[in-house]
Amino acid sequence: MAQERFDAVVIGAGFAGMYMLHKLRQKGFSARVYETGRGVGGTWYWNRYPGARCDVESMQYSYQFDDQLQQEWDWTERYATQPEILRYANHVADRYDLRKDISFETKVTKATFDESSNTWTVETDRGERVVATFVITAMGCLSSVNTPKIEGLADFKGPTYHTGNWPHEGVDFTGRTVGVIGTGSSAIQSIPVIAEQAKGLTVFQRTANYTVPANNQPLTDEYKRAIKADYKGMRARARKMPANIDLKFNPASAIEATEEERRKSYEERWAYGGIPFMGAFGDLLLNDASNKTAQDFVRGKIRDTVIDPQVAELLSPKNIIGCKRLCVDTGYWATFNKPHVKLVDVSAEPIERVTATGLRHKGKDYVFDDLVLATGFDAMTGALLRIDFRGRGGRQLKDRWAEGPKTYLGLTIAGFPNLFTITGPGSPSVLTNMLPSIEQHVEWIADCLEAVRSRGAKVIEATEAAQEGWVQHVGSVAGLTLRSTCSSWYVGANIPGKPRVFMPYIGGFPAYLERCEAVVKNGYEGFAVA
Ligand code: NAP
Repeated sequence: MAQERFDAVVIGAGFAGMYMLHKLRQKGFSARVYETGRGVGGTWYWNRYPGARCDVESMQYSYQFDDQLQQEWDWTERYATQPEILRYANHVADRYDLRKDISFETKVTKATFDESSNTWTVETDRGERVVATFVITAMGCLSSVNTPKIEGLADFKGPTYHTGNWPHEGVDFTGRTVGVIGTGSSAIQSIPVIAEQAKGLTVFQRTANYTVPANNQPLTDEYKRAIKADYKGMRARARKMPANIDLKFNPASAIEATEEERRKSYEERWAYGGIPFMGAFGDLLLNDASNKTAQDFVRGKIRDTVIDPQVAELLSPKNIIGCKRLCVDTGYWATFNKPHVKLVDVSAEPIERVTATGLRHKGKDYVFDDLVLATGFDAMTGALLRIDFRGRGGRQLKDRWAEGPKTYLGLTIAGFPNLFTITGPGSPSVLTNMLPSIEQHVEWIADCLEAVRSRGAKVIEATEAAQEGWVQHVGSVAGLTLRSTCSSWYVGANIPGKPRVFMPYIGGFPAYLERCEAVVKNGYEGFAVA
């Protein structure tokens, strides 16, 4: 049987894969999308844990490529819930008739570049083999779940859930006792909701985390009308901000402000809620002393909220605020005032083992009905390395990246021609509002494919020199901020054995955009086009 051929294979049908498909069609390229899930939505398809919602405001965490789409869609809350975002993803799939080119419940297992035909052969777990000129990965940065290697995990007799792969039918914890491992964003969102249902909840904390209240609220018609009337303006303002989010940013130094100015600024931001807290001063992620002023403020809030001083102390993070991703919560600290909620510190000694009925730590057995792993992801590279990519000379991506990911612009990889990585390592991605960052990548890739076609060329590939230059730049910019200094998933520290490299580009969206545009203007500088 003749192999099916496409101009492009796209891997993943989240927000990146969906828009990529739409854009490819618009430009007259044939495409097939492969998606592991039964439906579209990516992150928002898998992360169905209680309390899951986005920490970027809804009216900004949405596509802008079609003004009609953003005008017709109505968000209901300031921070949209997972079900609402998934409804939005499905609405987009319907509106642009995307599903007919998506193969669901199909995993890409291998992709091999053939140097004689300049094409990729893509293989799936269903035994399909298709040929494509281009392969575009759209698998998300946080999609490969991290199941910790704790002894005895398989021995637990009750149900075990991972926040990143939550049962579709939901879980009712009413009348149950629950153990939660982890205190990152997913845990901080889910713990207050689980505590409302469960009879008993024990949280095992290795590292206390900073969180700012969401101050979530329904969106009024007046607010929505005002944003919609100026959507273009808001998006343009966002593009000028490092994180591509339209928020108030105060460039002043925290340490040069007076005690009173600092308190006022932090209180205002605390009352507003969410990630804009870090915009209170311009040097919070550049200067230890400035950062400490924000740390002290948040620790004070924890002491004000948590009744038991020992619990408050345990919940108080000791590290740099904003170094790990800042969390956004609804009622997290107050949850620990409930008599049926317990906090166990596992920082000094790791959890010994999971048992049939719970887990053991420091020789003490904790018993519960259900175990929740809120233990995060093998971020940025995990999903890419699960696929056996073979580039020129049959070289495997996992070997090329043995010392950490190397890309040109986070978009392409030397030695892997015609392969593009939407929000790949080395791009701003997770440090920005993902939706507009995805759109920028999709549009850049689609224009690039068109440029290759119009030149009558067959292959585009980053040069080793350009890639090396970009990797150096990503590393040197990372070194300028405090963000690269702590053991976060940004540096792969949550995965034992993963090389420690600051993976996203921290130079800010505007600088990145400028660089991507300059590359095109200079005739695809840093690429060999043949
Ligand atoms: P995470 O931030 O990596 O948190 C994982 C947690 O599990 C950490 O507290 C970690 O402790 C703990 N952990 C891992 N292995 C452990 C072990 N063996 N023993 C004890 N504790 C262990 O993962 P996440 O909460 O899923 O969040 C990941 C990212 O997803 C976020 O940073 C954010 O970018 C995104 N996210 C966003 C939202 C949102 O938009 N609102 C919601 C959820 C997630 P250590 O800190 O000590 O490693």
